[in-house]
Amino acid sequence: MSLIIGSHVSYKNDTGLLGSVEEALSYGANTFMFYTGAPQNTRRGVINDELTYKGYKLMKENNIALENVIVHAPYIINLCNDKNFDFSVSFLKQEVIRCEELGMTKLVLHPGSSVGLESSHAIANIIKGLNIILDDNHNVIICLETMAGKGTEVGKTFEELKFIIDNIKNKSKIGICLDTCHINDAGYDLNNFDKVLDEFDKVIGLDYLKCIHINDSKNTIGSHKDRHENIGLGTIGFDNLINVIYNKRIENLPKILETPYVDDIESDKKRVYPPYKFEIEMIKNKTNNPKLLENIREYYKKI
Ligand code: FE
Ligand code: FE
Ligand code: ZN
Repeated sequence: MSLIIGSHVSYKNDTGLLGSVEEALSYGANTFMFYTGAPQNTRRGVINDELTYKGYKLMKENNIALENVIVHAPYIINLCNDKNFDFSVSFLKQEVIRCEELGMTKLVLHPGSSVGLESSHAIANIIKGLNIILDDNHNVIICLETMAGKGTEVGKTFEELKFIIDNIKNKSKIGICLDTCHINDAGYDLNNFDKVLDEFDKVIGLDYLKCIHINDSKNTIGSHKDRHENIGLGTIGFDNLINVIYNKRIENLPKILETPYVDDIESDKKRVYPPYKFEIEMIKNKTNNPKLLENIREYYKKI
């Protein structure tokens, strides 16, 4: 059994990769995902190589393989947009370079939102942008994320993602990150994940699948909302998520939790606690915990 499980963790300039690894280990994880800075802005610090090497050392000691670690591109990048196209391309290119500096090989990207543009024009822009970026000599695979279809999001169907991949010249540098909340909200039925994988394989090809985001959903199938829920407390449910996580066909892929932090009711919701240590425990034990939120609040109040 080779469960590769982790969560979103922070990356701060003063603690660097070492801080991210320490956070992941505190959750009992054997992989992790991070943004190289705040997801909603483009301010990025200089990478501290010493902290990166210390991070590698700690990863090695704890059997965290570099190839399972994921970087998420900031979601303000929108390759669809004519107006911000040059900015988005140059920022994404810098993000690829930062991944290389950190030794990371998988960068997850939201394809974009077409906003006022015609969808075909928006998708053409995504393809154009990716072909500029993926033209370079680097080791980073850009993994397009399956989206919920909120607003004018591109990537809500496997067919849309396949169309983009078909038009990428450097196919060894493009992949897909499948997000369980997003595909549920997009209309794919997680009551039968093998059927979803069959569909993925038929339309895109399982070889392109590089990473799985594990989230429950606050909304029903096909709702096009994209609001993540803690494991077992949403409409997808614990058993369906376990079936995804332990599915043999994707057992070599990293599974990353992006479930919401839990607020502390008693302190007027001002404090929030990461759920990942508890959710990873549930996943390892394959046992649902209906008291998840209460247990998290109790635990973090004490420390
Ligand atoms: Fe994402
Ligand atoms: Fe995601
Ligand atoms: Zn989401």
